[in-house]
Amino acid sequence: MFEALGQKFSNLFSGLRGKISDSDLEKFAQEIKVALLESDVAQSVAENFSDQILKIAAQRSEEINKSTNPGQKIFEIVNAQLTQTLGGSARRLRFAKTGPTVILLTGLQGAGKTSLSGKLAKYLKDQGNTPLLVASDLQRPNAVTQLQVVGDSINVPVFAPEPGNGVGDPVAVAKAGVQFAKDKVHNFVIVDTAGRLGVDQELMQQAIKVRDAISPDEIFFVVDAMIGQDAVKTAQAFADGVGFDAVVLTKLDGDARGGAALSIVELTGKPIIFAATGEKVADFDLFYPDRMASRILGMGDVASLAEQAKRSMPADTAAKLEEKFASGEDFTFTDFLSQLEAMKNMGSMSKLMGLLPGAGQMKKQIENFDEVELVRTRVIIESMTPIERNNPKILNGSRRARISRGSGRAVSEINSLVERFSQAQKVMKQMRSGAMPNIPGMGSLPNMGGMAGMPKISKNNPPPKKKSRSGNPAKRAAEEGA
Ligand code: GDP
Repeated sequence: MFEALGQKFSNLFSGLRGKISDSDLEKFAQEIKVALLESDVAQSVAENFSDQILKIAAQRSEEINKSTNPGQKIFEIVNAQLTQTLGGSARRLRFAKTGPTVILLTGLQGAGKTSLSGKLAKYLKDQGNTPLLVASDLQRPNAVTQLQVVGDSINVPVFAPEPGNGVGDPVAVAKAGVQFAKDKVHNFVIVDTAGRLGVDQELMQQAIKVRDAISPDEIFFVVDAMIGQDAVKTAQAFADGVGFDAVVLTKLDGDARGGAALSIVELTGKPIIFAATGEKVADFDLFYPDRMASRILGMGDVASLAEQAKRSMPADTAAKLEEKFASGEDFTFTDFLSQLEAMKNMGSMSKLMGLLPGAGQMKKQIENFDEVELVRTRVIIESMTPIERNNPKILNGSRRARISRGSGRAVSEINSLVERFSQAQKVMKQMRSGAMPNIPGMGSLPNMGGMAGMPKISKNNPPPKKKSRSGNPAKRAAEEGA
């Protein structure tokens, strides 16, 4: 969603070359302000941002002037300020001292609360918790059923004694839900409440009553990042009404200009704790201000990518692949299949590629990435026998013809996959030297240690010195003096 802003920042930085005079800096700060305003950032936040850049640059003017790359110094200042504007450091979930941690979700109808209940429950469950979902949105048509469906899909129980659609008392349900969680020893309770299409007194009173009945440990205000400046106004109304501890931004995958994310922390004084980036339950993570700043400035978010990869691949599979790699064994189709499985769990490939450094420049390739290609590749591998998968060399003409019939793909596709695969096997061998891996069906990716079973370059497994190059394009460019 920050593509437009990222592009503007990128243009502004490319204009900062050589020595930077005071007037260059003032012009730069002014242009940053305009870029922020055009991205829907609130006026006061944009002005403050630009003032801060000027102030910090003035404080560090000696260091900037002495530097061989003053533009880089300004970049660092902007990066730090952007991180600050987004909240500084990541806000972690607060746990109750005793009993279940009770989380109350508030926000307008359509903000994504019910979807978020499922996302949050899955996130907590994946970390070994035992969440309970409570259906207290008894207003919005089908909200109760929607919560039950999402609960079933992630195997999390849903406390839903009332049918909803206008029937039942949300305060009583919330209260009984928390009691139920205590009785059944759930360690988290997520209470989904009703929103309205706009802020109104009745909505606020109901949220306040639910709050007072269950004394939540955390109140999250859920807001659709796509509603732009309105997000901030709504946040202020909720802050004055029911009050909240942190913000959850949803629909960050949309094409909005990002103003909400950049204004909300400064204007409400509350941190953003989570961000949702899609409709699936896995499209969700803690909000990291530094990583978001890094993405806006075109440096990608490799930390999130590596974490997602780690979460998607069972630890023993990743360990086995690493061991295999370290011992110099061949990478087989069986290994590749487990990588494809992990990639599927990681979600949309284009979304993942968006986390790579320079993703802004690769926009076209990312948009053109054919997710179906991965499915076809899987089908072909699944049509091989286990012996063939582990020993692709035996794939002669008749075996290939059989695989073609089994998978419903042309023999030429089988040939092409096997060809690319044997190239990849070679590259896997070279990978220990830190070169760029080339995954069949995917083109080349930077070497992200720990990604989907990609072997890590570790101390015990150092790359040969003569070939040592960083897999991170930004780093490599720096190493090569580009
Ligand atoms: P509620 O009224 O606040 O409970 O909102 P819902 O959870 O029903 O969400 C409203 C709509 O937004 C649904 O169609 C969701 O699938 C969709 N939605 C929720 N979160 C996201 C997100 O992060 N990205 C996208 N693209 N859609 C989302």
